[in-house]
Amino acid sequence: MTNPPTYPQPAVELAGFVEDYLYGCEPAAGCGVCAALAKELAGARAAGVYSKAYDAAAEIRNHPHPRPRDGN
Ligand SMILES: [Zn+2]
Repeated sequence: MTNPPTYPQPAVELAGFVEDYLYGCEPAAGCGVCAALAKELAGARAAGVYSKAYDAAAEIRNHPHPRPRDGN
C-alpha cells in the first residue's frame, strides 16, 4: 500500500483560479489606457514578471470610466 498524497490535486489545477483572481480584469472597450494596460499585462505575464502583471491588472480594475447606462 502506497501513501496517498495529502493534496487532492496538483498545484497546477489551482493556478488558473489564482491567476484569474490576481490578474483577472475587464479592460473597457474603446479605452486606450485599458488597452495599453492589457497589452502590458499580457507582456508581463508572458515574460514572467508577475508583480508588474498584477499592477497592470489592478490598474485596469481601478481605471474609472463613465457608465454607459447611467443617466440618459
Ligand atoms: Zn480604461
